[in-house]
Amino acid sequence: MVTLETLNFDNSFSRLPDVFYSAVKPQPLKGARLVHFSPDAARLIDLPEAELLRPAFVDYLNGENPLPGAYPLSQVYAGHQFGHYVPQLGDGRAILLGEVINQQGERWDLQLKGAGLTPYSRMGDGRAVLRSTIREYLCSEAMAGLGIPTTRALCLLHSEEPVWREQLESAALLLRLSPTHIRFGHFEFFCHSGQHEALRQLTDYVIKTHFPALEGNDTPYLALFRWVVEKTAVLMADWMAIGWTHGVMNTDNMSILGLTIDYGPYAFMDEYHPDFIPNHSDTEGRYAYKMQPWIGQWNLGRLAAALTPLVPVEALKEALGGYEKIYWEAYTIKMLAKLGLSQATSGVTELITSLLTILHEHRVDYTVFFRQLCHFQPGGMNAAITSLFQDPARIDGWLADYTRVLEESGEPIGQAQARMKRVNPKYILRNHMAQQAIEQAEQGSFKEVERLHQLLQTPFDEQPGCESYAEPSPDWAKRIVISCSS
Ligand code: AMP
Ligand code: MG
Repeated sequence: MVTLETLNFDNSFSRLPDVFYSAVKPQPLKGARLVHFSPDAARLIDLPEAELLRPAFVDYLNGENPLPGAYPLSQVYAGHQFGHYVPQLGDGRAILLGEVINQQGERWDLQLKGAGLTPYSRMGDGRAVLRSTIREYLCSEAMAGLGIPTTRALCLLHSEEPVWREQLESAALLLRLSPTHIRFGHFEFFCHSGQHEALRQLTDYVIKTHFPALEGNDTPYLALFRWVVEKTAVLMADWMAIGWTHGVMNTDNMSILGLTIDYGPYAFMDEYHPDFIPNHSDTEGRYAYKMQPWIGQWNLGRLAAALTPLVPVEALKEALGGYEKIYWEAYTIKMLAKLGLSQATSGVTELITSLLTILHEHRVDYTVFFRQLCHFQPGGMNAAITSLFQDPARIDGWLADYTRVLEESGEPIGQAQARMKRVNPKYILRNHMAQQAIEQAEQGSFKEVERLHQLLQTPFDEQPGCESYAEPSPDWAKRIVISCSS
């Protein structure tokens, strides 16, 4: 049985030359205590629950004692933030404890977020507040529950240490898991600082560690870029189809593995609105919902630019040129699946576009609509669907078209709807739900964190007694303001 002391560390990143990172030590938070953990995430590194409940677990994470086998370090990277290049960022408050190889041979970075100052903290304090930590903790596990590629969150520590943001808050610590935390910004840092040999080493490292199959490839760097283009395009399609907006798609928040990473002012959309901007500080709407596929492509362009010392420009351009097609195909397939259709027959693209126009015009809740559609009865009254519209007649025409397409597909409706319930979640993490969990946590109760964590693990299942969580957001939720402050 694996214990905290016998985790199977293989700290490959620490074996890179020291231009890639700085060795650091987590700085203990006063009165840190474990307030929540995810047994599901702990299983990824083979840790039994009993190990997480040992007092030693908090001591190791909080830097009171060194975790045996770990090699704590902070990584250096750069990034384009809101379109502008920042030559050096790096883990300003994150510490990679090390990489654990689990019994399936999978590699998992164990990264602390909020563990204190690092050489990359710039003006920051190295800390993370409880509010933003709960948001990341719950949403990364919610995304995993939805089947969307994401970093994972193993546990949440809370402390009494005060942290100043717009007001006084308390500090928290998150243990994040990911096969790697390498971002587009890592490549930008080594390219634009002229360290091209290090850029090659980094790219070789990523290929050797995460894409061994590419090692024999004639053009491994180009093949890696193609892979990232594809994964990023598909991730954007995932976000768009589920109705989720990241909020801060800077290139330092783009995972080289195409995972959702760095949960800040994100949001699941309530009413369908393409211009939706979750981040109060994003006044221009650069990272609005509808912009995400294009920003994903723009960010890949920045990654391509960073790879030009290794790959001919024309080849990178050609690979990036494939992005739009991959995105649209992935998005269309996902949207068709939401409608219970498995084939793109003629007219279905129009069916999707016209539906989105109607949902937008009538300010209909995106998630609630698609979930109700799973119960659609051709020829029936369908009051649960039509009552979502001020003018039910407006959706009648669309439902008639939809009925025709369903009939043409020839698939029994019950079968299609069973599939629809696997892609149209009943439960999502709406901002006000996270907000209520945060407010209770700030008062010392983590019961709501637990409830949401549990609920969002199986977001497609009917969960008796939890129906109130499946309702559209209350009006007061519209007044919640989420900014970059974390
Ligand atoms: P984020 O907006 O969280 O993706 O962070 C952007 C950059 O700022 C990264 O380099 C972070 O490590 C750094 N950063 C954010 N918050 C803090 C903080 N409180 N202390 C130090 N660095 C921070
Ligand atoms: Mg970040």
